[in-house]
Amino acid sequence: MQFCPKCGRLLLPKKDKGQVVLVCSSCGHVVRDEKIEGYSVVKKTAASEDVVVVEEETKTGLPTAKVHCPSCGHDRAYWWMRQTRSADEPTTRFYRCAKCGKVWREYA
Ligand SMILES: [Zn+2]
Ligand SMILES: [Zn+2]
Repeated sequence: MQFCPKCGRLLLPKKDKGQVVLVCSSCGHVVRDEKIEGYSVVKKTAASEDVVVVEEETKTGLPTAKVHCPSCGHDRAYWWMRQTRSADEPTTRFYRCAKCGKVWREYA
């Protein structure tokens, strides 16, 4: 509840050109307040959508590299390193296509 800054009487909410304003019941003083109508609610919705996008990208926990998938040609793939059984062989890098899921290894 808000009161008139001029005479101290109760302010009543009223629609004015699609906007909610507070009008004094005694002297007619008008108070415009941008926070009255769903403004903050709209901003909150946009922020939560951003959070969802970030969660999707980091769900696999793997870094991505710009390489071309040999199967579908997509240019973004997840990658990880794996040491093969023989100690003489170098560490192999594996890729998994971010689009079709194809897994392949890097041939140096
Ligand atoms: Zn007033
Ligand atoms: Zn692919």
